[in-house]
Amino acid sequence: MIEKLFEKIVAHSKECGFVYQSSEIYDGLSAVYDYAPNGVLLKNNLKEYWWKSMVQMHENIVGIDSSIFMHPKVWKASGHVDAFNDPLVDNKDSKKRYRADQLIENAADKLIEKAEKEVEKAKKRFGDTFDEVLYRQTNPRVLEYINKANSALQRMNDGLNSGNLAELNAVIEELEIACEVSGTRNWTEVRQFNLMFSTQGGGATSDDVLYLRPETAQGIFVNFINVVKTMRQKPPFGIAQIGKAFRNEIVARQFIFRMREFEQMEMQFFIKPGTDKEFYEFWKQKRIDWHLKLGSKAENLRFHDHENLAHYASAATDIQFKFPFGFKELEGIHARGNFDLSAHQEMTGKKLQYFDPETKESYVPHVVETSVGADRLFLAVLSQAYDEEMVPDANGKNELRVVLRLHPSIAPIKCAVLPLVKNNEELTTKAKAIFNQIRHAFVCEYDEKDSIGRRYRRQDEIGTPFCITIDHETLTDNQVTIRYRDNMRQERIAIEQVERIVSEYVDMKNLLK
Ligand code: ATP
Repeated sequence: MIEKLFEKIVAHSKECGFVYQSSEIYDGLSAVYDYAPNGVLLKNNLKEYWWKSMVQMHENIVGIDSSIFMHPKVWKASGHVDAFNDPLVDNKDSKKRYRADQLIENAADKLIEKAEKEVEKAKKRFGDTFDEVLYRQTNPRVLEYINKANSALQRMNDGLNSGNLAELNAVIEELEIACEVSGTRNWTEVRQFNLMFSTQGGGATSDDVLYLRPETAQGIFVNFINVVKTMRQKPPFGIAQIGKAFRNEIVARQFIFRMREFEQMEMQFFIKPGTDKEFYEFWKQKRIDWHLKLGSKAENLRFHDHENLAHYASAATDIQFKFPFGFKELEGIHARGNFDLSAHQEMTGKKLQYFDPETKESYVPHVVETSVGADRLFLAVLSQAYDEEMVPDANGKNELRVVLRLHPSIAPIKCAVLPLVKNNEELTTKAKAIFNQIRHAFVCEYDEKDSIGRRYRRQDEIGTPFCITIDHETLTDNQVTIRYRDNMRQERIAIEQVERIVSEYVDMKNLLK
């Protein structure tokens, strides 16, 4: 395991041109980040993989690109104006602000950890004769920890659902949760805070409030009937979209995991009522397979089913990824019933239904949605790909090699073209000619600065799958040395083979097949 992986990823992202802090020369803006030159290439490739696997590979899924601004009543109908809230609480001594639900969930996790430690201790003490199931059911200390955690979570959820926020204060009190900065338990009352950013429309009166969309999904729902009428789609069919979303996240300390401005890749799948379970299971499987194909290890992915479902939902799960700070939500898969279409139908008085010509019946379709954050996916991919190993340098001494083991189809640069030495006109002319020839086929980088060893390392650090080196022999035999990123193997190949070999290897179709 790599020590301090998260800190390394954050530093690497900046040093190797993946992610910069927004407005950095003004000391940055909290929870807002910019994608740097290599980062934008990687992110675009991830989006292309998602888009092609959703839209290109399914004849019953079409794509749209709806606006960030929408009619303000959209957000009333969707429930976001009234209920898209986080429960906040401040520590009066440190003035630090927390999400009350996260404080309680973290404290409950610690209680569960304590229970697990008790079980581990007993396992060691009793050896082969240990009956773990019985121990868990009867040991008073284990039971006390588990019951305390479960009761806290239950009371928190009841409090949130009924709007009784004092109950959250009571749970915080009972669990003796202290501020990590001041160490005190001097809390304000818990209150709800709406996460939507708002701005003013043209008339600048209170009626002209416009929201920056907190999710892309509503742009899909309000276009449902347009797509049915113009694109000859009938359930089951999906509408996919990639776009920016904005949330005024108060507690955002995990790099690009939780941002105020981020990008979502969402697909709403419209189905006949009664087929919800079938399509929910179908999309769960499809989506986890998609992550595995990209190179995520099975042990780093898991489903986390929601226990407290929204009243309209029949099932919901998160695909969690093992980020360097633990398993956290990467993607949500939700069976939402007909909640959204019905709400917009009611608000607008317009029929949002599908008329089935076979049964001669109209119905409001149900929806299964898949929703993944492009930025969280980026972080997951980066943490999974980051690797360090000791390798011999040119003098035979061991040195550290940092390598991003990215799937070649998503690597930002596919091939680096490197003349062996810098100040040799013949070599650089030849190298540039090769560079100009292959850059039509994929993203290449020409680099002649520093020693060849240093240049290889630089490409390893950004995950470039191939390096092509042009040396003196190239001038006579028209061959180059191709170097493979993962095992550093080198071989001579003819110049005219370069484009074919690299193209085959890095083609997006390798991920789609
Ligand atoms: P969380 O519980 O972590 O706040 P959520 O359940 O509110 O997430 P959804 O509303 O289901 O998230 O959004 C779908 C996806 O959008 C998430 O799985 C995540 O990948 C991404 N996402 C949500 N909020 C953010 C954010 N603030 N920054 C980056 N990505 C986000």
